[in-house]
Amino acid sequence: MYLKSIELTGFKSFAKKSELQFTSKISAIVGPNGSGKSNVAESFSFVLGEQSIKSLRGKKGEDLIWNGSPDTPRANRASVKIVFDNSSKFLPIDYDTVTIERVVHRDSVNEYLINGSQVRLRDVVELLSSAHIGSSGHHIISQGEADRILNANIKERKSMIEDALGLKMYQYKKQESEKKLAKTQENIAQTQSLRREIMPHIRFLKKQVEKVQKSIELREELQKEALEYCKREDEYIKVTTTRIETERWPLIQKEKELNNELSEARAVLEGAKHRDATSEELIELEQNLFKVRSEKDNLFREVGKIDGEVSSLIRMVKKQEEVAHSLEHKTVTLVSVESLSAQIEAKIIEAKKAGDIDTLLRVLDEVGEILSAFVDKNKDKIDMSLLTEAEKDIENLKESKENIEKSLEEIKDKESQLAFQYTALQNKIEKEKDSNRDAEKAVFRVMAESQEVRSRLRSLKTEEETLHLVQEDFKRELTELGMMLGTHVLHFQDLAFDFNEDRHIQEERRRKIEKIKIRLEDSGGAGGADVLKEYTEASERDAFLEKELADLEKTATSLTELISDLDARLSVEFKNGVEKINIQFREYFIVMFGGGEARLSIVTPPKRKKSEVDELLDGGEISEEELALRSLDEAGEEEGIDIEVNLPKKKIKGLMMLSGGERALTSIALLFAISQVNPPPFIILDETDAALDEANSKKYGDMIESLSKYSQLILITHNRETMSRAGVLYGVTMGMGGGSKLLSVAFEEAVTIAK
Ligand code: ATP
Repeated sequence: MYLKSIELTGFKSFAKKSELQFTSKISAIVGPNGSGKSNVAESFSFVLGEQSIKSLRGKKGEDLIWNGSPDTPRANRASVKIVFDNSSKFLPIDYDTVTIERVVHRDSVNEYLINGSQVRLRDVVELLSSAHIGSSGHHIISQGEADRILNANIKERKSMIEDALGLKMYQYKKQESEKKLAKTQENIAQTQSLRREIMPHIRFLKKQVEKVQKSIELREELQKEALEYCKREDEYIKVTTTRIETERWPLIQKEKELNNELSEARAVLEGAKHRDATSEELIELEQNLFKVRSEKDNLFREVGKIDGEVSSLIRMVKKQEEVAHSLEHKTVTLVSVESLSAQIEAKIIEAKKAGDIDTLLRVLDEVGEILSAFVDKNKDKIDMSLLTEAEKDIENLKESKENIEKSLEEIKDKESQLAFQYTALQNKIEKEKDSNRDAEKAVFRVMAESQEVRSRLRSLKTEEETLHLVQEDFKRELTELGMMLGTHVLHFQDLAFDFNEDRHIQEERRRKIEKIKIRLEDSGGAGGADVLKEYTEASERDAFLEKELADLEKTATSLTELISDLDARLSVEFKNGVEKINIQFREYFIVMFGGGEARLSIVTPPKRKKSEVDELLDGGEISEEELALRSLDEAGEEEGIDIEVNLPKKKIKGLMMLSGGERALTSIALLFAISQVNPPPFIILDETDAALDEANSKKYGDMIESLSKYSQLILITHNRETMSRAGVLYGVTMGMGGGSKLLSVAFEEAVTIAK
């Protein structure tokens, strides 16, 4: 037994808290008309989540709340609490006792609680549906609704049977999936439309982005080339400047030197003008030398003459000496004679002067002495007068010679001095001549060299000017590149290269850079960042939409699969369920009618023919609106359930032809069959037995008993037979204040109360 109790507080006619304990398999609620029995049945529907107030016999939620009586004020809330024994875990929740409570307030706000915790309606419905106690109420048969299943159209029947078979869960799932699928498809359509809307913009942006990317590539290429170009150009300018300076310095030095050399040479050449004076000096020297030499020659000749004279004198002396040595050839010199004469004359003069003989005699003696001395002298001694004279001459000559030789020496000195001077002057002149020649040569050489140096300097100057132009160009290029690529292009200094490269390669690089610049300008990829951002955003959005679309399509596919799975499962389980119901239905039917045949069949409604439609309309059976609704229903649902009955001994086929009692019996047989195939934990039957006669009441009682093996039964009844089958009886009475009162009663009491 699953159902333990139900407690009503402020619900409808139950003003005060009233509790019904279901301790028996079969419980019966009895009481007079209007006492509130059906309210008890409805309290089950209410607490299990019934959303149709109408089916609870109200217009709005407020109608379910005790409305007050003269002695009991109206309630603000109606609450019903149902308690299940869940020790078998027939409800998928980990509690041995499960209490479900629903409260409705006057403002129609509902509260749902499971074991005292507030939950959503959905939670209640889901919890119950797994135990086949859905809110459709197939297990709560309200008063006068016993033959509802017979009155229902084929689609409603199908729904009721699905519910009873516990297939509603799948139906809910299916409906939910269909709703989700519809929503998903709507989203797919929306997403597709969104994508279609933004696609042209993305295409446009993509083209722009391609341009931007092209320009980025070009910019990168430009940057790479530009950095190398700048570095090389900068290096070239530096290296060339240094080289020009290095080359120019020695050239300037050289030029200075050459100028000095030239002025020196010119000075030398200038000096050549004084050469005539020197020549005159030389001539004078030459003349002097000539004079000195003539003098020297004369002196030599003089010396020679003296030497000749001396030798002839010597020869003569020698001859004289020979002569002297022979007496006869002895001679005296005139001089000596003259001297002798002079001496005698001097004696004579002295004697004359003295005039005395003594003096004369003595003078005569003396003259004699003089003469004898003279003779002796000339006799003994060789007459050397000539020799002496000669020797004297020789001496004189020698003396002269010596003097001459002295002069000669002087002359020689003079000569050698002059000769030296001459030679020196001559050398000087020669030298001058040489240095002039050298100077001339030097002038030519220096001029040639100067020419070369100047030409080198000129070409360096030209190079410098060219370099200056290169520098100017480079500055301009740097500014341009800086503007195009940003200032980081100026960081080319950090690069390192092998600078051994031909200059024309750099020139080619420059041309390449110019070409890239033109292409970059032509590419028109300006405002790249914005376009890129926009494109990124747009394509991210599109990618998001694409992903979303894929997800949605995936969801749609899985939903479709789920739906078709559920359909298949529903279809199979429904068919199996219907078969099982049919077995029971037939049995109960035979029990009820003592024979005959009854079965459910799954049918697909044929399209109505025009004649049928017209007939229905003409016969006034249904309105056009209803027909349209039905057609919609029938078109929407493929299958339905038809009921075929075949009463024993009667040629009655078709529900329309059954009597009220027969309809009740058939309904009961079907309800019981359904309940037995998939027994709900409890079944509430509100005066289902009302139309039965005594014999059928007995059969009904038997069926109840057999059904109670599967489900707990709560029976609202006036039927004594039914009451007799119940283990617990509750009597409901209407008190003086208009509120229902509940009391547990014994069978006989119940019989009395029921009246
Ligand atoms: P019967 O045997 O004739 O079917 P019953 O015992 O099933 O009668 P109910 O239909 O359950 O009787 O009870 C109806 C009674 O409940 C009525 O008297 C009605 O006035 C009372 N009632 C219904 N709603 C309220 C409410 N909100 N407040 C007070 N009383 C209410």
